[in-house]
Amino acid sequence: MVIATQAPPPIMSLRPDELREWLDARGQPAFRAKQVRGWLGRGAPSFEAMHDLPADLRAELAAGFRLSSLDPVAESEADRGQTTKLLYRLDGGYTVEAVTMRYPRRTTLCISSQVGCPIGCPFCATGQGRFGRNLQAHEIFDQALDASRREALSGRRLSHVVFMGMGEPMANYAPVVDSIRLLADPELLGISPRRVVVSTAGLVPRIAQLAEEKLPVTLAISLHAARDELRDYLVPINRRYPLAELVAAARDFARTTGRRVSYEWVVLAGVNDSDRDADELGRLLDPYLSHVNLIPWNPIEETEFKGPTRLSLARFADRIRSRGLNVTVRDTRGRDADAACGQLRARVLKGDGRDAEGAATGSEVDA
Ligand code: SF4
Repeated sequence: MVIATQAPPPIMSLRPDELREWLDARGQPAFRAKQVRGWLGRGAPSFEAMHDLPADLRAELAAGFRLSSLDPVAESEADRGQTTKLLYRLDGGYTVEAVTMRYPRRTTLCISSQVGCPIGCPFCATGQGRFGRNLQAHEIFDQALDASRREALSGRRLSHVVFMGMGEPMANYAPVVDSIRLLADPELLGISPRRVVVSTAGLVPRIAQLAEEKLPVTLAISLHAARDELRDYLVPINRRYPLAELVAAARDFARTTGRRVSYEWVVLAGVNDSDRDADELGRLLDPYLSHVNLIPWNPIEETEFKGPTRLSLARFADRIRSRGLNVTVRDTRGRDADAACGQLRARVLKGDGRDAEGAATGSEVDA
């Protein structure tokens, strides 16, 4: 008879009080929990490496827990090693991606909050796949912990986190907020919420809720169109929360938190990059409370969309600026690293078949 063995739980699935209880039950002093979490935050590669803990405790920790909930299954690099994309397998078999981008003065991790995305934007690799499930807070946080561990090997420090990977963060609200608090925990990574960007396609009630959390994160609205007719198509959640409601919620967020909102605009040639689009955007946004980020579209297979030329992108940016808005053209990190969200996962799944958990069909957006 084959007896299935269950893997021990990941250490970060324990709340701090649960870890204290576990240690207390083994006769350990109160400061041990802080020691263990400190080692996790400093990127300890194993429980064995936590060398100021007693040897028998290290052995018990190793027998009782896994260091991470994530199993790295594929990796790709781009930009001469400055961009690394990792694909992780979660418990149950689904996979998610996280991308580390290294710059001269900061290292940013683009993190996933869901397996797939229920929003279904037609230009997005993740949106074209089926929705799987929400990530738990420790599964989101473990992406940052793993990136931090890897960066520490080359003497670098993870400094910024953007929730712009797979998924709609606001549709997995409580775990995302919990994971931001874990990121900020000085015993762990100590990444200030000021260095965290939370993106949303526009779940209006959650934007108001986030404003009340007292977490000074930057809100990034995935806008992509400034008239409802086009946005209904490009970002289907717009049919439930149209532009007027979305922009009003973002304005309230900016006023409550004192933080300017970012508006992300994936530039699709011939779809949303005309003078008319720029002029509509200029009329929609308040220049004092907004910043526009233009992102040239990253080609994915099996769509009719095209990215802009350099010239047309520059013209579009200038036209928006002429309407009084601040505009940044974002670099396209990782074009050769399956950089559009969902691409590495899509490529690996093509080779491997589907995620082990299978795929649920669609999902209600919890808003
Ligand atoms: S662009 Fe963002 S919101 Fe739209 S499907 Fe992709 S991950 Fe979801």
